[in-house]
Amino acid sequence: MTNTFQLTKSTDKVSKIAVAVLLVIFGVGFFAVGFDQGQIFSLVQGQQAYGQMYLHEMTHDMRHASGFPCH
Ligand SMILES: [Zn+2]
Repeated sequence: MTNTFQLTKSTDKVSKIAVAVLLVIFGVGFFAVGFDQGQIFSLVQGQQAYGQMYLHEMTHDMRHASGFPCH
């Protein structure tokens, strides 16, 4: 007669670096959808980005659908 034991060890830990990366992605996405008025693209385009607001126009309908104030 043999006895067999099964030991299952589960670790439910999420690495802190994964949480940090996801929080940064969430923050950038949240800002881009909800508040951007040309600030993100102004890093590349300069002052011209505030007039064009490409990212704002691209996320405009999503912004209104999610209830962010816009205009
Ligand atoms: Zn609007």
